[in-house]
Amino acid sequence: MARQVCLGPPKLRPQKCLSLSIHVKASYRSGTNAEQAHRRAVLEIMNKYISIQKVRFSKTVVGVQQHPGKVILKFADGGTAEASILVGADGIKSTVRKHVLGPLYTSQVEPVYGNSYCYRGMIPISEAKEIFGNLTDVAKMYVGEKRCCVTYMISKGEQFNFLLCALDDKPWGLKNSVSQKISHGAMMADFEGPEVDERFRRLLREARPVKWGFLHHRYTSTYYRDRVVLLGDSAHVSLPFQAAGAGQGLEDSLILSNLLARIYHAPDQGAALAPYISAGLVAYDAIRRPRAQKQLERAYEMSHMLHFQHPETGKTLDKIASKLQRQWFDWIWFHDLNADIDAAFHKIYEALNA
Ligand SMILES: Cc1cc2nc3c(=O)[nH]c(=O)nc-3n(C[C@H](O)[C@H](O)[C@H](O)COP(=O)(O)OP(=O)(O)OC[C@H]3O[C@@H](n4cnc5c(N)ncnc54)[C@H](O)[C@@H]3O)c2cc1C
Repeated sequence: MARQVCLGPPKLRPQKCLSLSIHVKASYRSGTNAEQAHRRAVLEIMNKYISIQKVRFSKTVVGVQQHPGKVILKFADGGTAEASILVGADGIKSTVRKHVLGPLYTSQVEPVYGNSYCYRGMIPISEAKEIFGNLTDVAKMYVGEKRCCVTYMISKGEQFNFLLCALDDKPWGLKNSVSQKISHGAMMADFEGPEVDERFRRLLREARPVKWGFLHHRYTSTYYRDRVVLLGDSAHVSLPFQAAGAGQGLEDSLILSNLLARIYHAPDQGAALAPYISAGLVAYDAIRRPRAQKQLERAYEMSHMLHFQHPETGKTLDKIASKLQRQWFDWIWFHDLNADIDAAFHKIYEALNA
């Protein structure tokens, strides 16, 4: 462990240690009323909008074939399905991604290790307050040499969510898994050392001894191939340091659902739909890929910053704070998505009238 490791808000740290607490979300800007939700609660809200008759559960896609005018899906249970367009939202270990990128960009199919991992946990807010007092009140990032910590309340303030992250100089050893169960002792050893504030170790004791590797799709040359298109983590899994991965997936959904509606209502149907599908997916790729890949790159850059490895900000807390607090997140949070939809429609129009 490096000499000046210290994770802790200013009042807690020894004088020479470098440490910081930044209000990243809740106090980012007056008028920004950010609130973190439990993942399951968000899913339950979204499920209400899906007609259950249209959903098939417990189906695992094992193969995708494209034919003129249709896509055929093969499932693990031996079943098949046909569609005009396939949207693969099958996450970090996407089968659909392999179909889209495999033939031309084989090296881009698998996510690559972002040289960091974390331990995660969630405790009742009453327990968190015993450890952190009123530092629990707003989302915080604590930075340090090769280690950092992110904390925030969820479930209307009843639960306290935390990630204790560490930079790694070894490769991620597991090929098919992003998590690895380790011993409690090995987990604690990662945050040993007199420089680490005891409060972080108290928090770590509450974490599950599971190492979560941070992987990302650093390079992705296209989000679609013919009638098959990627959405969410299957397209652009990212390091989590900007808390923006799911948000980017929702942006994909917004743009793509508008484009699909336009294709669905096209005046020509059947085989004549092909140019609309092509124009729609070209437009989706053109609008979404630069933005989602930028998020991914900036999350990687932020990882360097939070772990004191950024060439511009180094270990200087003021430089890190000013870089993060001055417009770092604006382009993510205050983006005009309606303008993106209009731009995508315009691209379809141009392609069809070229
Ligand atoms: C530690 C951590 C913290 C994060 N924090 C945040 C945050 O604060 N804010 C934020 O916006 N994002 C955050 N993210 C990112 C966010 O979790 C992801 O971007 C988001 O969950 C991706 O959603 P998805 O639907 O694309 O993929 P997933 O949630 O992975 O869903 C994929 C689905 O596809 C299914 N599937 C997989 N393969 C197949 C197959 N072959 N056939 C059928 N189904 C299949 C899976 O079972 C799963 O249900 C975080 C990520 C991590 C790792």
